[in-house]
Amino acid sequence: MTIETMPNSFDAIVVGGSYAGLSAALILARARQRVLVVDAGLRRNRFAKAAHGFLGQDGRAPGAIVADGKAQLLAYPNVQWLDGDATRAEAANDGFIAHVADRPYHAKRLVLATGVVDELPELEGLAERWGRSVFHCPYCHGYELNEGRIGILAVGPLSMHHAMMLPDWGKVTFFTNETFEPDETERIALATKGVIIEPRRVERIVETATVELSGGQRIAFDGLFTASRIHMASPLAEQLGCAFEDSPMGSFIRTDAMKETSVPGVFACGDAARMAGNVALAVGDGTMAGFSAHRSMLFPAQ
Ligand SMILES: Cc1cc2nc3c(=O)[nH]c(=O)nc-3n(C[C@H](O)[C@H](O)[C@H](O)COP(=O)(O)OP(=O)(O)OC[C@H]3O[C@@H](n4cnc5c(N)ncnc54)[C@H](O)[C@@H]3O)c2cc1C
Repeated sequence: MTIETMPNSFDAIVVGGSYAGLSAALILARARQRVLVVDAGLRRNRFAKAAHGFLGQDGRAPGAIVADGKAQLLAYPNVQWLDGDATRAEAANDGFIAHVADRPYHAKRLVLATGVVDELPELEGLAERWGRSVFHCPYCHGYELNEGRIGILAVGPLSMHHAMMLPDWGKVTFFTNETFEPDETERIALATKGVIIEPRRVERIVETATVELSGGQRIAFDGLFTASRIHMASPLAEQLGCAFEDSPMGSFIRTDAMKETSVPGVFACGDAARMAGNVALAVGDGTMAGFSAHRSMLFPAQ
């Protein structure tokens, strides 16, 4: 039995049905391929009320953008959608098998659009404010702070990036929080940007975005920024033997310019396959992965 004649067999399986996966699936659907999208429904930005910086959708609820994309995709009769978690994937004779709820699904090509998970700094009051008053991306959420008071919670020397960038969005206090000590050059650079350095330990976040220091002093802000570490939301790329790239925030799936991974026939797009996450980039990556997955079926030697 060839993969085409197996039950639950598709031309492509897209794992992850958010911005990147929906885009990849849309291109494949429009190429009249039989597509299965598997999605666990845990978008990275599900904590935020609004998504910004995505042309034509600026300020909309992140879930509403995805819901529109999904509705448009499911209008194509050659697309099937499966809510669930693809827990395992492996190469099959002439394609791949993805397992969802212990049931195998077969396809000639696999697109991983599985995203990443943010590991937040351990600090009382931070997790419940993530995406609401504590952010990581100034381009996504800085403008709405209206040039107000911004606190940066350092996680290490890398937080200098936040501290040098965020003065373009407001009046910045940099809580080094015993994670690192700026050297003289860095202090001068921060002073030039008008950044206040606060070395006392941060105990917790209270109210909307108020920082409570050791000793009990509280300083109120309009918003806080910190950096997360990321890890893959799914083990599939590792199971398939895909190569990874390291970054200071964590590793991501290595792809070529056409979004094919180191495993021929497996494509990856969106946050899972790039260093810095962004909705527009995820949509663009997904489009490229869709093109490439389709073309690889027509021109397998390419
Ligand atoms: C708080 C916050 C706010 C943000 N705000 C913005 C913003 O305003 N503008 C902007 O451009 N970017 C923003 N981002 C970044 C944005 O969320 C990501 O760049 C974007 O979600 C990446 O899209 P994606 O499709 O690659 O992954 P995701 O949106 O994370 O989607 C991955 C999908 O794959 C599913 N999945 C994972 N593994 C499996 C599996 N094994 N089986 C089935 N399904 C699986 C997940 O459940 C999820 O539905 C924000 C991020 C955060 C954390």
